[in-house]
Amino acid sequence: MVAQTRRMMPPIEYVRLSDEAAGLDGIIAIHSTARGPAAGGCRLWTYDDPEAAMRDAFRLAEGMSYKNAMAHLPLGGGKAVLRRPAGDFDRRALFEAFGEAVEKLDGRYVTAEDVGTGVADMECVARHTRHVAGRTALPGLAGGDPSPWTALGVFEAMKAAVEFRYGSGLAGVTVAISGVGNVGAGLARLLHGAGAKLVVADIDPLRCARLAEETGARIMGIAGIAAVEAEVFAPCALGGALDDATVEALHAKVVCGAANNQLAAPHVADLLMERGIAYAPDYVANAGGIINVAAEYLGESESEVRGRVMAIGPRMRELLDTAASDGLPPPVVADRMAEELMRPETVAA
Ligand code: NAD
Repeated sequence: MVAQTRRMMPPIEYVRLSDEAAGLDGIIAIHSTARGPAAGGCRLWTYDDPEAAMRDAFRLAEGMSYKNAMAHLPLGGGKAVLRRPAGDFDRRALFEAFGEAVEKLDGRYVTAEDVGTGVADMECVARHTRHVAGRTALPGLAGGDPSPWTALGVFEAMKAAVEFRYGSGLAGVTVAISGVGNVGAGLARLLHGAGAKLVVADIDPLRCARLAEETGARIMGIAGIAAVEAEVFAPCALGGALDDATVEALHAKVVCGAANNQLAAPHVADLLMERGIAYAPDYVANAGGIINVAAEYLGESESEVRGRVMAIGPRMRELLDTAASDGLPPPVVADRMAEELMRPETVAA
């Protein structure tokens, strides 16, 4: 059984971007504005052809609609995908031209950084539009590095998933973390503070060594981390960490991490369920970053960010309870909850 319910709706609007002089070639896709302006980062990546960039933009914009809805943000979903020019290029000119394109959408799309873009690029965008976040944080207001918020959200989601599956808190529980970069390391520190035991793996041995010194974590090679004896597996590196073989080898009965698109294929959600593993859907657990980025755009305070991030735990518990009582994989329930939150009747209520 492949219990996939997401409907893959095309975007409601998209704009092709082309400015040869500035090196701009890409697309802005607006998947949904049901809950508010379509928000989602701007990716700069190498694509073979414009169609590949367009497919990625549509897919990523849809993902943002679900993520933003599940985080209860007053935002729809969108994404910008820019094709990285070959060779040297004028980065400032490219992002200024992109800023002009965002401005033309008159607030229907809000951008921020994503893979391949950073704060300096968003500052260039901001010269031409105010519909941009991910800029330098202003005192007293939300903004800045989203990673600590992502780590906190995953930590809260994990607490809820462990309570659901094992009926316990995190103290004494062993968590295996794959990828201890910005989010994985932050998560490790929070878990250490809560009395959890850690096993960590990363392709960068220095990152593991630093964390081991700080938290007493045991270091493993990346090949064996998923199968290590632990109650929780936390994928915090790249996407696609969970495939048939990994799920077969998993010892942990809870999977909860920060990485986007953790399931290598939709049917993996069924495999996890069949093996009695509680899977915390990635886009629900890792919403802390977008919550922080959204708060910057909406002019909210840090305490409002904290409130929204802390709500991830109870939301995850409700989701896992519903999945168990309906006999469905959690990602299917997550998509249904998000679709409900995008319905005009729900938004109006
Ligand atoms: P990062 O680049 O800081 O860290 C990623 C870490 O994974 C690095 O230490 C890298 O060496 C390691 N790594 C790469 N390949 C690996 C492999 N095969 N096995 C083990 N480790 C490997 O990135 P990050 O900001 O910590 O993000 C981690 C994940 O969380 C990404 O998938 C990202 O898309 C997702 N995410 C991040 C945020 C955020 O706020 N940063 C928000 C939502 C989702």
